[in-house]
Amino acid sequence: MTVFQQIIDGEIPADIVYEDDRCLAFRDISPQAPVHVLVVPRKPVVSLVELEDEDEALMGHLVMVARRVALDLGLENGFRTVINSGVDGGQSVDHLHVHVLGGRPLAWPPG
Ligand code: 5GP
Repeated sequence: MTVFQQIIDGEIPADIVYEDDRCLAFRDISPQAPVHVLVVPRKPVVSLVELEDEDEALMGHLVMVARRVALDLGLENGFRTVINSGVDGGQSVDHLHVHVLGGRPLAWPPG
């Protein structure tokens, strides 16, 4: 059971900024930018690696929700979306999620 599953199940609180029948978006507990939101599917997919063909529409939906959240939270000046996968990708929670970061200039490349 991951911490994101506990948030989806309502077992632990989160600052939810958007939700629908397929996903939740909530503020990261350790924000790396003035706006740092995680878009998380309700379906318990571990990472991009575990996605199946039937998840194509779900992934499109997550990206559209990331866009909606970024615009709703005032990131018209730009923002970054990130999906970390696996150990080398820096994934620390084994439930697929899209980071939405913004509110300051973001350096590239990441570390
Ligand atoms: P990852 O490192 O897997 O790409 O991203 C996981 C993110 O989840 C991290 O940015 C971390 O701060 C965030 N996180 C971990 N535990 C919690 C929690 O209990 N609540 C919230 N809102 N975010 C969490």
